[in-house]
Amino acid sequence: NPMFTSNYSTVSDQKPSETTKGNSERKEFQAETRMLLDIVARSLYSDKEVFIRELISNASDALEKFRYLSVSATGDSPQLENADRALEIKLTTDKQNRTLTFEDSGIGMTKEELIANLGTIARSGSKSFIEEIKKQGAEQASSIIGQFGVGFYSAFMVAEKIEVFTRSSIAGSSGYKWSSDGSGTYEIQEVDGVPIGTKIVVYLKTDCREFADDATVKNIIMKYSNFIGSPILLNSEQI
Ligand code: ADP
Ligand code: MG
Repeated sequence: NPMFTSNYSTVSDQKPSETTKGNSERKEFQAETRMLLDIVARSLYSDKEVFIRELISNASDALEKFRYLSVSATGDSPQLENADRALEIKLTTDKQNRTLTFEDSGIGMTKEELIANLGTIARSGSKSFIEEIKKQGAEQASSIIGQFGVGFYSAFMVAEKIEVFTRSSIAGSSGYKWSSDGSGTYEIQEVDGVPIGTKIVVYLKTDCREFADDATVKNIIMKYSNFIGSPILLNSEQI
């Protein structure tokens, strides 16, 4: 995209700058996460667009966490890298490749954080979801998803595969790629060339291709973005 002026790399040109480095490790999701993913992927919940709200809200949280770290830093705090970069959320649609990509320049994740945050259910919303499923049965999944939300994992309602590229803002951190098709396992690999923050590439299922459409995504962002404290760009245009 010739309009693109930012100085950190994106997938918008579909030429990822990341290069794999370490060996890829395959890990199993925690049993409850597996159960949640299974239900989410098969759910007939009709309001699938909420995954966009969830991923934007995670990006926004990551930017807030970074801002907090930078203002509360003391002499003993870990050194932060590139502290004066632009703090923003960027979404990129790609119809041809059927992807929707979310990027933030926020706090990022270390390898340990990546495994803990995207491999287990630490979060109260996802926990309550699982508890309700156990009580009410999987047939009630749709209404329970609506009530409790499932955060990051909601993207598996629309995704056949998700890739997460992340690098912690703690100086000296390596970048990692996390990827999964949501069925039981995920892979983690160290990669070079990852900017600080997090990039999430959602490879859409064929029947969810609408979420690679610029106008559709723009409408959804406008519905939810009022509460977001950081700039949101869609295909380089500020929303
Ligand atoms: P919640 O946002 O309620 O904690 P989620 O399932 O949405 O639950 O996300 C799980 C965790 O993954 C978050 O708490 C956060 O630690 C991590 N995470 C998700 N997205 C990002 C992101 N864009 N940047 C940094 N960390 C993230
Ligand atoms: Mg969240």
